[in-house]
Amino acid sequence: MAEKQYYDLIVIGAGTGGYVAAIKGAQLGKKVALIEKGDLGGTCLNVGCIPTKTMIANSHILEKIKHAADFGITIGSISIDYAKMKERKDGVISKIRKGLEGLIKSHGVTIVRGAAEFTGPKEIKVKGQDNVMLQGENIIIASGSEPMDVKAFPCDPYGSIGQKIYNSTTILEMTELPKTLAIIGGGYIGCEFASLYAELGVKVILLEALPMIVSLQGKAISDILTAAFKKKGIDIQTGVMVEGIDKTGSGVSIRVKDKSPIEADAALVAIGRKVVSQGMGLQNAGVLISDRGVIEVGDKMETNVPGIYAVGDVTGKLMLAHVAAHQGITAAINATGGEAVMHYNAVPAVIFTSPEIAMVGLTQEEAIEKGYTVGTGKFPFQVLGKSIATMDTEGFSQVVIDKKTGQILGAQVVGYEAASLIAEMTLAIANELTIGCLTDTIHAHPTLPEALLEAGLMAMDMPLHMPPKVKK
Ligand SMILES: Cc1cc2nc3c(=O)[nH]c(=O)nc-3n(C[C@H](O)[C@H](O)[C@H](O)COP(=O)(O)OP(=O)(O)OC[C@H]3O[C@@H](n4cnc5c(N)ncnc54)[C@H](O)[C@@H]3O)c2cc1C
Repeated sequence: MAEKQYYDLIVIGAGTGGYVAAIKGAQLGKKVALIEKGDLGGTCLNVGCIPTKTMIANSHILEKIKHAADFGITIGSISIDYAKMKERKDGVISKIRKGLEGLIKSHGVTIVRGAAEFTGPKEIKVKGQDNVMLQGENIIIASGSEPMDVKAFPCDPYGSIGQKIYNSTTILEMTELPKTLAIIGGGYIGCEFASLYAELGVKVILLEALPMIVSLQGKAISDILTAAFKKKGIDIQTGVMVEGIDKTGSGVSIRVKDKSPIEADAALVAIGRKVVSQGMGLQNAGVLISDRGVIEVGDKMETNVPGIYAVGDVTGKLMLAHVAAHQGITAAINATGGEAVMHYNAVPAVIFTSPEIAMVGLTQEEAIEKGYTVGTGKFPFQVLGKSIATMDTEGFSQVVIDKKTGQILGAQVVGYEAASLIAEMTLAIANELTIGCLTDTIHAHPTLPEALLEAGLMAMDMPLHMPPKVKK
């Protein structure tokens, strides 16, 4: 092994949390090394956000085409080339990955290829393409998460012949659509895949152990999605305890407690993710982990060992790419002599199903529970000019305010472009804006954000494009 190399900051893992932290550290004038054992970009770029949203874009196009006749456009028969869709997805990933490598290097960050292992609190051995010893003044761990493995649901290894049982990573390599797909797990990842495959014509059976799907997002959202999924023909079975999956000659057989087995051509196991904190020699650095392997951090993202920080999924907080990125920035500032704390009150969360669902801050119920005098405004896209023009009328924009102070507490958007629409409300909540700031802002016409403006006016009982609650 070559001589020891010295850095001001070493980052382990080049996923969203890690590469953002490394760039930020370099921007703050430090000598930074970024260690990655796999592909740059981690889960989000390679097997998470980007590939799933690339595939979901295909089903959006298909849905538009199916309704082309309503726009006066006649199209012949439609066919799907799923292998081509997968090829496009691979192209998107490699294009972004190449760009990312250039970006990281342009900031002067040294990329080290291999698996990192602590040999002491400030010392790391890298094994792989690069075999080096690194010493760092400060270290940020951003080792991420991976699909949960359960013995009873034996996922086929990637690329194996006769692959029928997938996880969220391996299903992205599938080149042919199954006729029927059983999805085990009705969290946001399971639901995004359910929405995608149902729109591509696959018969989807969605199995969830809890009494409702997307339970973390609350009952109101769950009800909306359940109704939309039923319309798409998705067979939703809740309160169902899957005990095992067996491969049969023609597909898979799902063993379910107290029920007959469910047959399908393939199964997707989407039961959650586990953090990656083993095999990194954390004990050699004295970094403590919980029973679940989570690295505990405070709001400065520092672990129990001064100078060692952790960010992203491995911290077991909100497993979202934009949270990992923000934690990365926070950790990098603290690790380079600055002061920054992480807040979680204005974290947008999006479910990229059809309809798209986005939320930030408090729901109406949460605001009431916290003792606010709550005002809400809910404006349906059905009556918005832009939505009617493009025939995207499903859903609504909702704003939750504190009636006493006018402070915007939360927002929920269901429907076309919900993910983009929530940004305005995230800015408002992060900066503690009042409803007057929203309603005094001129919104371009005709656009979707006008639905937020109208919802704001409704929360103040002053609707312009809806009848008043009490008729004059
Ligand atoms: C199917 C799916 C869809 C998703 N969609 C979204 C979405 O739409 N929006 C969203 O916000 N989030 C989404 N997520 C979640 C998002 O991908 C993660 O929250 C995010 O990637 C976490 O970033 P991270 O930096 O913590 O870890 P990761 O992205 O997991 O990166 C960790 C990196 O560390 C490397 N590593 C681990 N150990 C070592 C070691 N010892 N040495 C060197 N390198 C190491 C790994 O190889 C990996 O590259 C999705 C996830 C999945 C699975």
